[in-house]
Amino acid sequence: MQHPNPWATGYSHPTAWDRDYPPMTVPAMLAGAVARGPQAAMIDFMGRTYSYAEVLDGARRVAAGLHKMGIQRGDRIGLFLPNVPHYVAAYYGALMLGAVVVNFSPLYSVEELAHQVEDSGTRVLFTLSATALLPTAVKVLAASGLERLVVGSIAGALPKGKSVLYRLLKRKEVAARPDDARITAFSALIANDGRFPEAVIDAVRDVALIQYTGGTTGSPKGAMLTHQNLTANARQIIDVDPEAGAPDRIVGALPLFHIFANACVLNRTVANGGTMVLLPRFDAAAVLAAVERTKATSLPGVPTMYQALLAHPKLAATDLSSLRVCISGGAPLAGPVKARFEAATGAVLVEGYGLTESGIAATNPYEGLAKTGTIGQPLPATTIRLVDREDATRDAPAGEPGEIVIHGPQVMAGYWRRPELDATTFADGGLRTGDVGVIDEDGYVRIVDRLKDMISVGGFKVFPSRVETVLYRHDAVRDAIVIGVPDAYQGERPKAFVTLVEGAAVTGDELMAWLNPLVGKHERCVAVEVRDALPRTLVGKLSRKELVAEELAKA
Ligand code: AMP
Repeated sequence: MQHPNPWATGYSHPTAWDRDYPPMTVPAMLAGAVARGPQAAMIDFMGRTYSYAEVLDGARRVAAGLHKMGIQRGDRIGLFLPNVPHYVAAYYGALMLGAVVVNFSPLYSVEELAHQVEDSGTRVLFTLSATALLPTAVKVLAASGLERLVVGSIAGALPKGKSVLYRLLKRKEVAARPDDARITAFSALIANDGRFPEAVIDAVRDVALIQYTGGTTGSPKGAMLTHQNLTANARQIIDVDPEAGAPDRIVGALPLFHIFANACVLNRTVANGGTMVLLPRFDAAAVLAAVERTKATSLPGVPTMYQALLAHPKLAATDLSSLRVCISGGAPLAGPVKARFEAATGAVLVEGYGLTESGIAATNPYEGLAKTGTIGQPLPATTIRLVDREDATRDAPAGEPGEIVIHGPQVMAGYWRRPELDATTFADGGLRTGDVGVIDEDGYVRIVDRLKDMISVGGFKVFPSRVETVLYRHDAVRDAIVIGVPDAYQGERPKAFVTLVEGAAVTGDELMAWLNPLVGKHERCVAVEVRDALPRTLVGKLSRKELVAEELAKA
């Protein structure tokens, strides 16, 4: 059953909204930055600087253009874009109109994108020409209920001095743009006076962002994050930062479509009127150069990004002294990586923890508070509760590990059109995380286990069931279990265990050579081990935990 439109019915999960963060919409946070003064809002990948007034103007024109297309409050607007200025204008423009932004990973295949466009009911999709994204988006336009594609041009963002490159790109763009009345150029969309009827937005109830995630099971579903979820989280992150008064210059090497960058690059920059330095993808040399060139003060990332920077030959010759605080998240940060990065840069590298469903950050220890190996203490207005692993209605026994449950103004309203999941997603209004933790006597939280079958490969989430499903396509495979095994660089990587059907003679290496090209980059297994039998539970279901324990004992 599909849940009725949440705006029409006032559907919201009974989360205990905290009064310490007065309700604020995302456009109101941008308006606050505009009012603050002349600080640049962003620097794009070609080095062009945009003021807050320019960002606001671009967003208003996007809103006016979408309004002319018939987009209304509550309609879904998809972003299928890398970190380019169009992303920022489209994000704020859609939100000003009271529409809902749906973020799509630029890595999606046609099938994945089409599925999520359909599931979210996305009406208009923004993408970029002269990239691999455009052909994918055009196929989705033909194969889904999508009504329109808005195609931005990188060439438009290039400074005049790059005119040769500009002409080359321009030629490619024209060739790549098919003759379809449902495709509008971004420049045509924003060719207007920026006027549209101001939307009345309820910060607490109105959804700003639908963010697809595997949650605890792996099947993709849209986490509904309200305006207040996003603005509260940005304010919470800043409130625990003792030096956040001055505007930051934040290097955005994390992709903006991901909730980590949405919170720690986009919203955090705008919340304190800082500048974001947008890079289209992570490239260690480009990040080092961007930090030095822009005198960046902050670089949020996943642990493997910091490892890649530490291993880069240009590290020693790059001046990184402007960095003051970097936030690592998505996967555990190893103590030695933190220590080496801090020694190399003079910055503080803090570890945060959270989920897509918690708008990202739930904990964050800053300088002087950090305890290596923990995920720190809850953010302001956030409560972390440990519940019994078997029965989430009961607290875990004192001093024992339990499933982490997050209460706070950043906790999502629920999953898009999946109200039946509320019962297993929330416990007493708090978000069940599927992560198992302990809390020490000082209130620091340490993650000790995971209830969900998720593997975190350098911060990228891999769900064993997806890899197992592919393994079962091989004629020789009878049973398959995929688990995460420790990996020095990525934290964990997938490993498969299989039994074979009678008479099959394939080796583990052969199976691995067959499997890895069929799965995503992070889903590739480090080994496939053939066994005579796999562990089972008392009711006969395949059981992972014995294999996990075996591998941990080896490490
Ligand atoms: P996602 O919703 O894709 O961001 O994934 C959230 C999950 O990432 C959490 O439930 C944790 O299992 C994991 N995670 C996030 N931050 C950390 C961290 N600092 N240490 C360990 N695991 C983390």
